[in-house]
Amino acid sequence: MDIEKIFKTRQDIISTYFDNSSSLAIILIDENKKILDCNKGFIRILGLREKPVNSSIHRFLLMNFDEILSSNSVSNMINLVFKGTGNIEILLKGSIFPLDGPFLMIFEQHRLTYNELITKMSQLNDQIVDITRQLEKKNMQLSEALKTIKKIINTDPLTGIMNRRAFAKILKREVSFARRHGLPLSVVMVDIDHFKGINDTYGHDMGDYVLKTFAKTIIGCMRQEDIFARFGGEEFVLILPSTPIESALHTSERLRQRIEKKKIRGLKARITASFGITTLLPTDTYETFLKRADDALYCAKRMGRNRCIIKEKL
Ligand code: GH3
Ligand code: MG
Ligand code: MG
Repeated sequence: MDIEKIFKTRQDIISTYFDNSSSLAIILIDENKKILDCNKGFIRILGLREKPVNSSIHRFLLMNFDEILSSNSVSNMINLVFKGTGNIEILLKGSIFPLDGPFLMIFEQHRLTYNELITKMSQLNDQIVDITRQLEKKNMQLSEALKTIKKIINTDPLTGIMNRRAFAKILKREVSFARRHGLPLSVVMVDIDHFKGINDTYGHDMGDYVLKTFAKTIIGCMRQEDIFARFGGEEFVLILPSTPIESALHTSERLRQRIEKKKIRGLKARITASFGITTLLPTDTYETFLKRADDALYCAKRMGRNRCIIKEKL
């Protein structure tokens, strides 16, 4: 008597063992890769409740079965990754036997060797490094994009200087800084005189060019810490930090003269601008502060334009 003889004569022993063996998974699938039958081992290893008869094998495989069949010669030992309950990966090692249409899959649970484990971990580590690098790159791109967006929403597209939205934020910040440190703070409203006439005579494009030249000229003779913004249309505003009213008047007068002298290509006459100047009072709100500068500007217009007018008191 030998083992082979027993296997041939007592197939009930083999089939009982294979059906119950907890580490062996035996699956019979038809030509459409649908499960026809499986042993208890397969059910237990994958944590299933019942035989998944009629389910596609693809439901349980984390790999493409057809690709596996085409890239491996049948009955070779291959590794397959199955999906267990809770989506955990289960590695099984075994063979697929073609049976004239159906396939018999005999696999056993495979524990990685120490070397395989190290290789796998090193591959995972490489992947993590790669993903981290990609993430860092994406983050950098995102922060660049955010910077660009921030710049766009705070900039006047025509002149490239700060727009009214950004100006409002900066002025509030400067007001609280001046109050906290007991420093003077002045603002100057500036409006180009008879600007409508430029548009009417030379056209809107020339008007735009004048606005750009005007902004460039002012920027060119401002202090580094002064802030210049387009308030709207042909109206601009200056914030002069740490500046008392007399110095604000002096600065405005210097700017006014510079504008008056500026020769603009394509314009016969020189342009002029009116300036309304005020300084922060202890009782001021953002609105009253600006309103006073606007009143001063209105005064400058009424008095004949091309001049600087101060309004110090409420
Ligand atoms: P004043 O001396 O009283 O300030 O007279 P003004 O003509 O400068 O003022 P008014 O408010 O009557 O006209 C301003 C003109 O500015 C009217 C408007 O069409 C023009 N304007 C506003 N924004 C722009 C712009 O972005 N480009 C151009 N080309 N014109 C503009
Ligand atoms: Mg004007
Ligand atoms: Mg105006």
